[in-house]
Amino acid sequence: MDHFELRDGELYAEDVPMRQIAEEAGTPVYIYSRATFERHARVFREALKPVAEASGREPLVAFAVKANPNLAVLRVLSREGCGADVVSGGELIRALAAGVPPEKIVFSGVGKTRAELQLGLDKQIGQFNIESREEGRELAELAAAMGREASACLRINPDVDAKTHEKISTGKAENKFGIPLVHAREVFAELASLEDLNLRGVAVHIGSQLLDLEPLETAFAKVGALLSDLRDAGHTITHVDLGGGLGVPYKAGENPPAPAEYGAMVARVTADWDVHLTFEPGRVIAGNAGVLLTRVVRVKRGGNGPPFVIVDAAMNDLARPALYGAWHDFDAVKPTGERMTANIVGPICETGDTFARDRECDALQAGDLAVFRTAGAYGATMASSYNSRGFVAEVMVSGDEYAIVADRIAAAAIMDAERVPDFLAD
Ligand SMILES: *Cc1c(COP(=O)(O)O)cnc(C)c1O
Repeated sequence: MDHFELRDGELYAEDVPMRQIAEEAGTPVYIYSRATFERHARVFREALKPVAEASGREPLVAFAVKANPNLAVLRVLSREGCGADVVSGGELIRALAAGVPPEKIVFSGVGKTRAELQLGLDKQIGQFNIESREEGRELAELAAAMGREASACLRINPDVDAKTHEKISTGKAENKFGIPLVHAREVFAELASLEDLNLRGVAVHIGSQLLDLEPLETAFAKVGALLSDLRDAGHTITHVDLGGGLGVPYKAGENPPAPAEYGAMVARVTADWDVHLTFEPGRVIAGNAGVLLTRVVRVKRGGNGPPFVIVDAAMNDLARPALYGAWHDFDAVKPTGERMTANIVGPICETGDTFARDRECDALQAGDLAVFRTAGAYGATMASSYNSRGFVAEVMVSGDEYAIVADRIAAAAIMDAERVPDFLAD
């Protein structure tokens, strides 16, 4: 459920007409609904009630910052009690700037540099999720130099097919993430023996936009078996991080598992684990909390297919359709009731800049406003300046108020960071 709805025939973001945002902030522009973010964070926490009861401990919900790193978004979620799952030094700095307490920050990622590990130690974050023997040794060495102990979990690769798009599948043996289960005991033993590393548990994350609980349950069951083995080997396990991955409905007929079903499954599988649990939801919190508002530049007749509705947003602003063939619902801000079948495209000079082919949608004309829905996760954050298009603005709505929470960065401002060297001056 979100707060982008028709009122008196036009689309509103909470209590603000989108038309008004377009007039003031220009298009294309991302619009976020604060109430929707808050609702999703609460629904997720509510869904984990059975987990909290079964384990006797409040789980940590660490929002996956890469889904939407906007400072205002992170502030909203931090105020809801969320921590942050970060995958780079840049995300770590953002989470702290937004007010996330360092002890609620988890640092994930397969290629953390020495400088990034050091930054995490300097900021005294709560947990590092270690993805290799080498990374664990490096972290221990840096911690030793500071006279500090680093808390960590070992990310394992359970070799489970998440049955999602191959580019966002992370838990198969051939993926770069985590330690293969067959090596987990040996690597755990080695890293647990390092004095400056408090290796206290394991982490798993098998992929994103999962529409079925079964792969998650299979992966969690493997984690459970590993826990027993590690404890049998004499290790003390107090923490398990179960990652993110829950999908959202992008189109009618898609029925991802409800957070409550997920919570019930987790409570059942983890009932006798006796650990602190961490979750890293991204998309399920942010996806439906944002839309990309765009204006139709013109409508052009096709060669032998439907007309092209050319909008002012493009693949550089919302990459998911070009990158993953992803579907985003597309609706007019002021629907007339008439429908059309169209190819929805951006202005960029490649055919990949196509949002939808042969799509039945509201009838649109040049100058009309329309939205791509479910653009709050992996939207603005994946933008580039391809075709020298600059970066779009982001707006957050809260009731009848709204504010620009990221300025539009003009192509000229990006050019200002470039220079022609002396050896080319003539
Ligand atoms: C991307 C990512 C997440 C979030 O995934 P969602 O599908 O957005 O929930 C969580 N944990 C890790 C380690 C990730 O890389």
